[in-house]
Amino acid sequence: MFINNNQSYKSVRPKVLVVGDGLVGISAVLALANKPVDVAWVGPQVTDRVIRPDDRSIVLNAVSQCHLAAWGVWEHLVPVATPIVHVEVSDRGRWGKCRFSAEEAQLPALGYVVPAHQLLMALHQCACVANIEKIAGSVVDIKTDKDNAVVDLSVQDRSITWVGEVVLAADGTRSLLRQQQDLALRKKDYAQVAIAAQVRVGQRHAGIAYERFTPEGPIAMLPRGNGRYGVVWVVDKARANAVMAWSDKTFLLQLQKAFGTKLGLFSAAGARQHYPLGLAWMPLPVGDKVVYLGNAAQTLHPVMGQGFNLGLRDVVDVCKVWDQASWRDLGAAHSLLRYAKMRESDRQKVMHLSDGVVTGFSSDCLPLAMLRSGLLGVVDLSLTLKRAVAHLSMGQPIC
Ligand SMILES: Cc1cc2nc3c(=O)[nH]c(=O)nc-3n(C[C@H](O)[C@H](O)[C@H](O)COP(=O)(O)OP(=O)(O)OC[C@H]3O[C@@H](n4cnc5c(N)ncnc54)[C@H](O)[C@@H]3O)c2cc1C
Repeated sequence: MFINNNQSYKSVRPKVLVVGDGLVGISAVLALANKPVDVAWVGPQVTDRVIRPDDRSIVLNAVSQCHLAAWGVWEHLVPVATPIVHVEVSDRGRWGKCRFSAEEAQLPALGYVVPAHQLLMALHQCACVANIEKIAGSVVDIKTDKDNAVVDLSVQDRSITWVGEVVLAADGTRSLLRQQQDLALRKKDYAQVAIAAQVRVGQRHAGIAYERFTPEGPIAMLPRGNGRYGVVWVVDKARANAVMAWSDKTFLLQLQKAFGTKLGLFSAAGARQHYPLGLAWMPLPVGDKVVYLGNAAQTLHPVMGQGFNLGLRDVVDVCKVWDQASWRDLGAAHSLLRYAKMRESDRQKVMHLSDGVVTGFSSDCLPLAMLRSGLLGVVDLSLTLKRAVAHLSMGQPIC
């Protein structure tokens, strides 16, 4: 598979290189595990996550849950997944409010909250079972010729070159591959930072998730079980360092002030993590012999909890395109353009929705505030609209 010291191995199956060991990269590995391709997978050996486990709460929608179940991942998550049966969306200081329920949307659950590090571990575990070993290293360079992608990897001080039909780049927001291929990226800085943590709450949750908009940014409270909630608190960039430096006591007090007492009194905060927020968007998520997936193709604001769900649909759709072509011409321009076309509407919808919500709800301008209060009220009264919103957030029919 590798050309290394003049050794080469010839296989009749097309060769695919997956780059990245984040949530989307490993999902791509699993999606390809039983397909008629030779998969190589590369990701850094020691990552930040090993030193600092990711304690975020990730909301998976029903479509994602279905794909994860098909790859054997979901069974590892069942003990730690909390179903969301109600969502309450409100605007601080305004009357508008909207409640969604799984029953009204005719779904078993509106989504499932899972701990990010357990999701990552479960994906890794399944990749091991699928016998796809990760090459502990990084991509340093990519070139392409008429038939192949030629990728240089740095693996423990050694240089290895991979040659094959196509690369799936899930190497994150700052994608080196995208930079090397000099592809267009649209960017927007929201001047906001998400602070993620866990808190203990005074009231039992009964599967209710809350999204509360404030002029500074939204606060999401996600049920985690055992009297705990996962918090994603979006604050002004200028204030983020101060919020990170607060004592737990001050953090809990300020969060309570911003969110209110709906969940009783907050106590016991876990470690805080912070994420600068922006929109990064590839208008065309493909390059010469490379398909960009997940954050490498689009990084969204977490307000709608859609980034990974959307990245998973990237993965599923690239396999669909290749499947329809009987796993031939994987890296050919016509295959890649077909993929880009297939993804266009879903990506656009989710991007516009999350960007619109961030922009529309992060403002205290009175006419806008009244409009969104009215909008929340209208959606709350319409079962059809509620179902439409619930299904829109899934992007695809449930499998
Ligand atoms: C606060 C917050 C809350 C969120 N909540 C939700 C939610 O509820 N639901 C949801 O669906 N999404 C959510 N998201 C979004 C979700 O976290 C991301 O969409 C998802 O993690 C993207 O995964 P990825 O694998 O594409 O990218 P990344 O996680 O960035 O992974 C990229 C990987 O590529 C590797 N890499 C980089 N460069 C190289 C290289 N040169 N060679 C080899 N490997 C390389 C890196 O080591 C990394 O592991 C949230 C995001 C934030 C910030």
